[in-house]
Amino acid sequence: MISSMDKLMHQVTRKPRVVPAAGAGLVPVPGAVAPGAGPLHDQYRRPLRDLRISITDRCNFRCTYCMPREIFGPDHAFLPRSSLLTFDEITRFARIAVDQGVQKIRLTGGEPLLRKDIETLVAQLAALRTPEGKPIDLTLTTNGTLLGIKARALHEAGLKRVTVSLDALDNDIFTRMSDSKVQVKTILDSIDQAAKAGLAPVKVNMVVRKGVNEDQILPMARYFRGTGHVLRFIEFMDVGDTNGWNFSEVVTGAEIIERLSAEFPLEPVQAEYRGEVAKGWRYTDGQGEIGIITSVTQPFCGDCTRLRLSPEGQLFLCLFASQGYDVRELLRNGSSDQQVLDHLAAVWGQRNDRYSEQRGQLSGSRKKIEMSYIGG
Ligand code: SAM
Ligand code: SF4
Ligand code: SF4
Repeated sequence: MISSMDKLMHQVTRKPRVVPAAGAGLVPVPGAVAPGAGPLHDQYRRPLRDLRISITDRCNFRCTYCMPREIFGPDHAFLPRSSLLTFDEITRFARIAVDQGVQKIRLTGGEPLLRKDIETLVAQLAALRTPEGKPIDLTLTTNGTLLGIKARALHEAGLKRVTVSLDALDNDIFTRMSDSKVQVKTILDSIDQAAKAGLAPVKVNMVVRKGVNEDQILPMARYFRGTGHVLRFIEFMDVGDTNGWNFSEVVTGAEIIERLSAEFPLEPVQAEYRGEVAKGWRYTDGQGEIGIITSVTQPFCGDCTRLRLSPEGQLFLCLFASQGYDVRELLRNGSSDQQVLDHLAAVWGQRNDRYSEQRGQLSGSRKKIEMSYIGG
């Protein structure tokens, strides 16, 4: 149970520390990076390849592991509209990042489909081209409630693929976990609509929490086998400071594979590219693939090529970061593209984050950014 003092502390400290554009410890070198010069590298020589853009901190669900209602209740202060990056600001930053080697963009949130006219943003991002002239891999993660009605428009706007979160087939478990009245059938219909609209293969994310939905692992696998959709099991993570995470509630990737293999023989699939988050497995009888995301038990920081942009224009270098780097000011104060690029290069160049590999060694009192603010 979260006490009212915890809640107050959380509201006071919810926002991670933000380092202003020309902030402490960051020394952008003007013009040091030529536009299109190739991937930026961090302190561990990890290239910048992926950009995850959170476009809202609001959501119509209150998943207990992400936005517990005790914290994100009616009096919770969400970001005011004026502080959100506009679509043009997002697109401008994305263009500068794509010029520098970003090949994949994922829209997330909060619930990204709550952002009005998201199709317009999708169309703007879909028009971006890499320095080699290739389109970017543009995708989106959603809880699926509005996907059924938006799938066609999103695909027509240029969205390539979609990931839908669904934690259970059992309606009671699902409504309890999402703390909403939305029915499983709505999400399953949305997944079908998305595939029909051309957003296939649809990835389906299931966060597995011990004692809560672990008995849904096999029913979910049975349902999605042979459909062409790719079910991905995610270890429950200690993101943010509000979900009361405890390792005893993690069902490990190894346990998940063991349970699945008892019914369906599986074999590992070779990773397609560096930085792939999910480890792939395929059913040996040819009925498709699944993925396992083992951020807790088998961290993959060494290949992490992801930069995160928050709804209000802060750059985060890790899902578990406690500090962001402002870029909105540069996007609003008339700075040139080169100045934005110099800032991006300085931020990425000093990156040495690898939280999941250091889990347990870092101070427990360190504040972490919330998942609903920065996205998955
Ligand atoms: N609202 C959208 C959705 O749910 O798909 C997009 C944002 S949500 C934060 C992105 C992903 O993060 C979802 O698949 C969600 O299940 C996952 N997620 C949220 N909190 C998590 C946690 N504590 N551990 C593991 N995954 C989590
Ligand atoms: Fe909303 Fe997604 Fe978080 Fe659930 S996981 S509360 S749907 S942002
Ligand atoms: Fe990347 Fe941070 Fe996750 Fe490691 S913990 S994989 S650095 S986001």
